[in-house]
Amino acid sequence: MTRTLIEAAEEAATCTRCRLSQGRTQVVYGVGDPDADLMFIGEGPGFHEDKQGEPFVGAAGQLLTRMLGEIGLTREQVYINNVVMCRPPGNRDPLPDEIEACTPWLVERVSLIQPRVIVTLGNFATKFVLDTHVGITRLRGKVHDWHGRTVIPTFHPAAILHGGGERSRQFQLLRDDFRLVRATLHGTGSPTAPSPEEAPALEILDDVPPPPPSGVPGLPDRVLPIPDAEPHDEQMELF
Ligand code: URA
Repeated sequence: MTRTLIEAAEEAATCTRCRLSQGRTQVVYGVGDPDADLMFIGEGPGFHEDKQGEPFVGAAGQLLTRMLGEIGLTREQVYINNVVMCRPPGNRDPLPDEIEACTPWLVERVSLIQPRVIVTLGNFATKFVLDTHVGITRLRGKVHDWHGRTVIPTFHPAAILHGGGERSRQFQLLRDDFRLVRATLHGTGSPTAPSPEEAPALEILDDVPPPPPSGVPGLPDRVLPIPDAEPHDEQMELF
């Protein structure tokens, strides 16, 4: 029988599958609606997240909350989580074996929540989920078909804050991407707010070139299919 998100979070709270467990204050599992249509995936908890046990509560999180508000959503209406659940020391990138140890937890969350749309925040989460080495600048602003779900990569809010803030071109692009998220959720196909010349192209990209082997398998193929979709062998093996 499938367990609930609460049961999974209880077990995750004592996880010691990788070295990050040694330096953490607590596991940062995820937060939001367990039936959310929209999931955000960031990289990993930072200082504030580690202390509070909730993803995206620091300055980057405040920007994320604001961007959600601009498209009429609250944090409670979406699900927010990260590739890894424990804070890497000094906010370094998670290492391949740490990602590998944490991947089953993320796979389980996606499988239980079944979001229709996944927004990957920043290069790290985008490369991991789409299993690509293509950079965020090329991948953002488009919808990517991924095993029957839609992935929309966008800039990490922390990158906006460190790179010029509200006056930057990246901030405008982040706004565009959130409008694309809203349009995709509403099934309207294209954002309504920007003028036609501003509107990002609504392009389905399913030909992202495969990356060279990295030793870390990405999220693709490892998540339970959306209901009614034909499961394929690799997906079934994992559960
Ligand atoms: N950055 C992330 O990638 N995730 C968080 O939860 C906070 C900051």
